[in-house]
Amino acid sequence: MKRVYFDNNATTPLAPEVFELMRPYMLEDYGNASSIHWFGQRAKAGVEKAREQVARLLNARASEIVFTSGGTESDNTAILGIVEAARGERKHVVTSTIEHPAVLSTAKLLEKRGVSVSYVRVGSSGVIDPADVANALRPETVLISVMHANNELGTLQPLEEIGRIARERDIYFHADAVQSIGKIPVDVEKLAVDLLALSAHKLNGPKGVGALYIRRGTILRPLLHGGHHERDRRPGTENVAGIVGLGAAAEIARIHLAEEHDRVAALRDRLEAGILASVPRVVVNGDRAHRVPTTTNMTFDYIEGEGFVIATDLRGIACSTGSACSSGSLEPSHVLSAIGLKPEQARASIRFSLGRFNTDEDVDLALKTLPAVVEQLRAVSPHYKSAVTSDKQAKTGAQ
Ligand SMILES: *Cc1c(COP(=O)(O)O)cnc(C)c1O
Repeated sequence: MKRVYFDNNATTPLAPEVFELMRPYMLEDYGNASSIHWFGQRAKAGVEKAREQVARLLNARASEIVFTSGGTESDNTAILGIVEAARGERKHVVTSTIEHPAVLSTAKLLEKRGVSVSYVRVGSSGVIDPADVANALRPETVLISVMHANNELGTLQPLEEIGRIARERDIYFHADAVQSIGKIPVDVEKLAVDLLALSAHKLNGPKGVGALYIRRGTILRPLLHGGHHERDRRPGTENVAGIVGLGAAAEIARIHLAEEHDRVAALRDRLEAGILASVPRVVVNGDRAHRVPTTTNMTFDYIEGEGFVIATDLRGIACSTGSACSSGSLEPSHVLSAIGLKPEQARASIRFSLGRFNTDEDVDLALKTLPAVVEQLRAVSPHYKSAVTSDKQAKTGAQ
C-alpha cells in the first residue's frame, strides 16, 4: 500500500543527504569534541561547522548558538534560565494560551515557584494581538515568551511587533520557532528576539538535537550543571553526529527556502480546497492568510477525530488530531479551545501537516480517500442524521 505522511508537524523524515553527512561522525570521527587529539579535533570541526550553518539560517553569530537535546530543552533553558538569572524578588512572565507544552508546562512550574505568569489570549484567528502583550506587561516583567508558528494551526504570531515592545521596555524576548524554522525566513535581528528555540527533527534533521539562539550579552542560568561545554551554557558531551545533522538540515533549508515554501504551500492549498469542495460542513481553523505553508487544521462537523485518524491510517494516510504531545489524552486541544472551539468541535478537528517529501500524488490520494472516510464516519453519527434532517426541513420550510 502507498503511504502518505501528512504529520510533519509531529516530526519529519530525516533527509537522506543529511544522514550521509552524519554517518562519518558515528563511525570514524567518533572523538569527544573536547579532546585535543586528532579525533577530538575532527569532532569539534564538525560541531563548529554546524554552528555556522545554524547561525547563518537565523542571521545570528555562531557564538550565539547553543546546541541542546531539542526544542523542549531549548524552551526550558530560555525560560527558566532568564527567570532564575533575573534579580529582584517579584518576577513576572508574559506568554500566550496557545504555546506548546514545552513552554506552557515550564510556565506552570514557574507559577508553582512563586513567579506570576500572564497568559495572553487569542481570538478565532489564532493570532496574538501585540497590544494585548503590551497591556500584560508590569514593571517586574522579566520575560516575554511567544511562539512563532503555532504547531496545531500553523498561524504566525507578530513577533516583529512584540519584539519592538520588548526592546522598548528592556524585557527579554524568547520565541519558540520550532515550527517556523526552515519554512519561512527567520531573522533574529528583524524579529528582535533575545532567545529563540529550534529543533532538528522538525526540519528533516535527526531527533534529539536542537539549538537555542542566545543573543550576545544575555544573562541566563544554565539548566544543567556539569562541564564547560558550549561556553558554560549547556554542559554534557556534544551529540556530534546529531549536531552535524542539524547543521546540514539548516543549510539545506536555507538554500531551498523560497522554492520549497511555494511548492508546499501549493500542495497544502490544493488539499484544503479539495476537501472544502468535496466534503460538506468543514471549516478551516485560524487565520488562513497568516500561516506557515505546511499546515491546515480543519473541523469536520460530526466526526470524532481519533476515529478519523484511525480510519485514514487504514487507508494509508497519516494525519493527526492536533499535537502529538496531547494525542491519547481525552482533553480537547488547548489551542483549539483557546480560539473558541467547543469541546465537540475541537474533538472533530484534524491537522494535516505537509513537508519536503510530499508530492502531488499524495494530495491526489488524500482527496480520493478522505471524502469517503468522512461520509462513513458521519453515517454512524446519530447527531449528523438529525442535523441533516432538520437542515432539510428548514430548507423546505423556507420555500
Ligand atoms: C515539536 C515542538 C517542540 C518540541 O521540540 P522537541 O525537539 O520535540 O523537544 C516545541 N515547540 C513546538 C512549537 C514544537 O512544535
